[in-house]
Amino acid sequence: MNASCVSSPSPITENIVDELRRIAPGGVCCNVDLAKVSRWKIGGRADCVVSPATHDEVKKIVSFLNSRNLSFLAFGSTSNLLFSDQGLRAVAICIGPRMSGVEVDGDCFHVKGGTWVPSLARSVARAGYSGFEHVCGIPGTVGGLVMMNGGSLRRSASEYLVEILSVTATGETRITAKEDCGFGYRRSHFQDSGQIITGVTFRFEHRDLYSQIRRRMLTILSDRRAKFPQRMPNCGSVFKAHDEMYAQIGPPGAVLDKLGFKGRRIGGAQVSLEHANFINNVGGACASDVRRLAHEMKEAVFAETGYLIEPEACFVESCGRVRPLI
Ligand SMILES: Cc1cc2nc3c(=O)[nH]c(=O)nc-3n(C[C@H](O)[C@H](O)[C@H](O)COP(=O)(O)OP(=O)(O)OC[C@H]3O[C@@H](n4cnc5c(N)ncnc54)[C@H](O)[C@@H]3O)c2cc1C
Repeated sequence: MNASCVSSPSPITENIVDELRRIAPGGVCCNVDLAKVSRWKIGGRADCVVSPATHDEVKKIVSFLNSRNLSFLAFGSTSNLLFSDQGLRAVAICIGPRMSGVEVDGDCFHVKGGTWVPSLARSVARAGYSGFEHVCGIPGTVGGLVMMNGGSLRRSASEYLVEILSVTATGETRITAKEDCGFGYRRSHFQDSGQIITGVTFRFEHRDLYSQIRRRMLTILSDRRAKFPQRMPNCGSVFKAHDEMYAQIGPPGAVLDKLGFKGRRIGGAQVSLEHANFINNVGGACASDVRRLAHEMKEAVFAETGYLIEPEACFVESCGRVRPLI
C-alpha cells in the first residue's frame, strides 16, 4: 500500500459553497456521511458534494474550482470506489441521477453521463438492438462504466461506443472519438486525464426481437444473482482478470477460492462466501480493513501462482486522488 496524499487541499469555505449553489441550484450537499451513501458503506465525511444537472454546469463548476485552486474529483454511483476513513476534503462532483437521460436518433443513442446502466440496457433492448445485454446487471452510471470500460462475459462497454463528450480538467468542452479513448481491458485514457464524462454516444448495429433480447437479459441477471453476493455492501470484483492466469489457471475468484479465502475476515471486511473475488462489508468495515484484506489476497495469489493481479476497485484518498485500491 502506497503513501497517501502529500498535501491537503484548500478548505471549502462557506463562500465557495454559496457559489457552487449558485452554479448548480439544488445540487449541493455539505458534510455528507460517505459511510451512509457510498456503495461499500465505508468512508468518513465529504465536505462538499455537488451534483450538476447539465454539461454547462459541470464546465462552470470546474472553471470556478480551478480559479480558486481547489481539488475535485468526479464519481457516479460509487460502485467501484472505496472512500478513505478520513473522508474527502476535495469537492466531489457527482454525475448521477440529476444528469441522466437518453436521446435516440436512428441507431445512435446519445446518453447523459449519469444515466443508470441497467436502464440504458433496457432502452437499447426495447429499441430492438442486441449486443448490450451484457451490461444489464452492472450497477453504475454510464460515465463510470465508460471510464472503467466495464462490461461482463468478456465484453466491454466501448464495443459500440462512437464518441465521448467531456469537460477537461481546465473546464473546456471536448469530444473524443472512440479511437482516441485508449480503451483496453477495464482501461481508458480517461482514468488519467482528469476529464469529466458528461455524455456518451453509442451506435448499435445488430437488430433482434425484443422478446429474444429480454430473454437473454433475464438469463444474465439470474446467472449474476446465483454467482454474486446480493445482500451485503460490496464493490463487485476486487481484482481484474489477468489474461495469462485466466488462460492457465482461471479467474481471480476461482484462484482465491482454491486458496481458501472465502469467509476470510479482517475487521468488518470479509471475502464473500459466494464469490472469492468480492469483499463484503459485513458491518462497520473501515477502508483500512478492506485494503489489508485485498493486500493479503494479492500476495497469496502471487505466492501461489507467480501472477500479480491488479485491483479493479479504486481507492479515493481524502485529498480527492483516485488510485488503485492497493
Ligand atoms: C455488485 C456489483 C457488481 C458489479 N459488476 C460489474 C461487472 O460485471 N462488470 C464491471 O465492469 N463492473 C462491475 N462492477 C463495478 C462497477 O459497477 C462498474 O465499474 C461501474 O461501471 C462503475 O460506475 P459508477 O457510476 O458506480 O462509477 P464510480 O464507482 O462512481 O466511479 C468509478 C471511476 O470512474 C470515475 N467516474 C465515474 N463517473 C465519472 C464521470 N462521469 N466522469 C469522469 N469520471 C467518472 C470515478 O472517478 C472512478 O475513478 C460491479 C459493482 C458491483 C457493486
